[in-house]
Amino acid sequence: MTAVPILRQTTEPGSASLDALAELVADGDVVVLSGAGLSTDSGIPDYRGASGSLRRHTPMTYQTFTRDPRGRHRYWARSFVGWRQIRGARPNAGHEAVGDLQAAGLVGGVITQNVDGLHQAGGARDVVELHGGLDRTVCLGCGDVAGRAALDMRLRQANPDFGPRVDEVNPDGDAELPDDVLDGFVMVPCLACGDGPLKPDVVFFGETVPRERVEQCFALVEQAGSLLVLGSSLTVMSGYRFVLRAAKLGIPVAIVNVGPTRGDAKADVRVADPLGEVLPELARRVA
Ligand SMILES: [Zn+2]
Repeated sequence: MTAVPILRQTTEPGSASLDALAELVADGDVVVLSGAGLSTDSGIPDYRGASGSLRRHTPMTYQTFTRDPRGRHRYWARSFVGWRQIRGARPNAGHEAVGDLQAAGLVGGVITQNVDGLHQAGGARDVVELHGGLDRTVCLGCGDVAGRAALDMRLRQANPDFGPRVDEVNPDGDAELPDDVLDGFVMVPCLACGDGPLKPDVVFFGETVPRERVEQCFALVEQAGSLLVLGSSLTVMSGYRFVLRAAKLGIPVAIVNVGPTRGDAKADVRVADPLGEVLPELARRVA
């Protein structure tokens, strides 16, 4: 038994769970933890969510990326194509509502598991990118951090006719192409050291989030009035641990996600409606 009833599976704006959510957010000092579900309305598929399509191939792991030159080469070939969709994605009403709540002084920090930069594009500030960002690269050889846009320009010059158009990419920005096409891709070296390899500045599966970034997030959560989870099934521990920490400290947790989440038993408020409906309504009520 939990002290506060968990309200589930409501479908109407104006429902009891939305009232409870609005009440919690109106108290302020909210820290947001967002996941892929927040970006699905921007055309970036949620590969883990209940409504998301199954991935067509397994995600790149850190081990494959660092130890398998061919796997890495194919990753960059897919990513070259997928980047166009990521770059073309625009923030949706949910991102903008988070920005509005922040501008109204109700939301403090934003922790995101997304690597698409759409929170910032939607007006949010002080965003901690837990899993990094696709808009930059890091050289595994010399450590140089560089912008993805400049790399993309160089890749276009090296690959003027590369690849069929694809209509779907994964959240980590790669796309589905046959291996023989991928192998024809031309990768370019790091500009700083002339070598590489270059890696997108994102945390791959099998890779650890940098310790200081985790500590920064724990500090945010520990000072929060409440933790608001948006569009994450909390499958991976890298995000779920913040819910555990909040719950342990008695900090109220609210979860807005269409499908079930690993954190449901820890949630004080649970809203199962689409973010694109809930967040604008929430911002209208309290911001
Ligand atoms: Zn380098």
